[in-house]
Amino acid sequence: MPGDGPRLLRTLIIGAGFSGIGMAIRLCQRGERDFLIYERERGIGGTWWVNQYPGCACDIPSRLYSFSFESNPDWSRRFPRQPEIRDYLRRCAQKHGLDAHLRLGTEVVSMRWLESCARWQVVDGQGGVIQARFVVAGTGALSIPAYPQIPGIERFRGRVFHSQRWDHDAPLTGARVAVIGTGASAVQFIPEIQPAVAHLSVFQRTAHWVIPKSDRAFSGAGKWLYRTFSGWRLLQRAMIYLITEARVFGFAFAPRLLSLHRRLSIAMLRRQVRDDDLRQRLTPRFAIGCKRILLSDDYFSAVARPNVELVTETILKIDEDAVITADGHRHPIDVLVFATGFKASEPFPRGMVRGRDGRDLTDAWANGPEAYKGTTTTGFPNLFLLMGPNTGLGHNSIVYMIESQIAYVLAAIDAAERRGATVIEVRAQAQRAFNERLQRRFQGTVWADNLCSSWYQHRQSGRNVVIWPGSSWSFRRATRRFDADAYDLSTAST
Ligand code: NAP
Repeated sequence: MPGDGPRLLRTLIIGAGFSGIGMAIRLCQRGERDFLIYERERGIGGTWWVNQYPGCACDIPSRLYSFSFESNPDWSRRFPRQPEIRDYLRRCAQKHGLDAHLRLGTEVVSMRWLESCARWQVVDGQGGVIQARFVVAGTGALSIPAYPQIPGIERFRGRVFHSQRWDHDAPLTGARVAVIGTGASAVQFIPEIQPAVAHLSVFQRTAHWVIPKSDRAFSGAGKWLYRTFSGWRLLQRAMIYLITEARVFGFAFAPRLLSLHRRLSIAMLRRQVRDDDLRQRLTPRFAIGCKRILLSDDYFSAVARPNVELVTETILKIDEDAVITADGHRHPIDVLVFATGFKASEPFPRGMVRGRDGRDLTDAWANGPEAYKGTTTTGFPNLFLLMGPNTGLGHNSIVYMIESQIAYVLAAIDAAERRGATVIEVRAQAQRAFNERLQRRFQGTVWADNLCSSWYQHRQSGRNVVIWPGSSWSFRRATRRFDADAYDLSTAST
């Protein structure tokens, strides 16, 4: 009887960021309409919807940081800021009629593989239940914020928030503010808030490599050229891709090639920071590139301002109105901002994804996330991960990686359908061999530097579970065709 049982979908996409929107557009372009996009936020954009801290921007050039099939002729500047990227994604969604497929404010709380009918049963935050043949998770690698466990934090009486959930009502003007963390987000918002606050305590655990960003607004003529000539757009994009991609040689093959970046960073530090002691403390001790290289023209000079104190002592505890460091020093504050990054190696909470035999994905990934070509995981059939394990890049645009994965997912579904199969599952042996090869590739790369630990590594196993240790081009090649021999393609038993 119609209305009985959960709604059955062909494809459920989770997340409306670059991954989810890109996947949905590609489905529409093939004439497929039997899909929904569940997005837990109230708007489109994923990371570019959620992160709204002052100065939030991308550090990949705008003309590359967009879909190859949906170029944006109107980028205003070299490195796009958050509102412009969010609006770009919204326009893409509108243009391709995705509104009818979007369910905003709808969070997937759990999904379970139903063996008998070869479907995923998905429960959302309002208790709604649907079943989907295929699930494409575009949940992002950096969506769950990481908070350090600092004793006494619950006693703090001022405003406290994470950079990912910026509290725009927190009164910063004239306030004493503490920022914990000095990564990619912190170097963007510290120069923005420094002029307004009375005092800024920057708690740095590790000094990061920061190189000049050289951002600029595009000139009127430059914008006109770009908007008017599609050939020029293609050429620009190709040139930016090649120049950016060339950096992979330094990261993945010969780290000494990154010495130019190192020199650029040291020179900027010398120019912007006169105080010897401060300069020393801002100088990184690990190989450049091992952690993400940060881009900023004004971070060092902001930290050198008289109302800023760089604190490198370990944080001991927090009380009602201060951070207390291991040297016994009290740092009085009114507002506390965590810029402490994300749980990149625990992208799905326990209980959210249960595959064959009810196995939780967090158990399958007890040694760190692992997938075949970053996209499929044995024991979790018909589930495709965009920006899955080891698809991150230190040197180029993630959108390129996402597009490679989307093409691979579509090819996988096509291959299954051609054979009349309803279940697509990567073989355990193929996944294991792929990951053994992949982990061996880290030897000799900049990420193998033993002076550096980063969020790319899984805490227990120490394995790098985030980075693709090669060129983005080699990933494209690896995902160019669907390699059915690495998979079991079958039909449901009933
Ligand atoms: P992050 O780069 O992971 O930086 C986190 C910072 O918090 C680091 O300085 C870290 O120190 C510190 N930290 C973490 N736990 C701590 C603790 N318990 N005590 C003291 N300090 C602690 O995080 P993020 O700045 O949010 O950036 C995350 C990623 O988001 C970036 O790497 C990038 O991929 C992405 N992002 C991109 C852009 C862009 O322009 N495209 C902008 C922002 C963010 P340690 O270094 O010692 O661990």
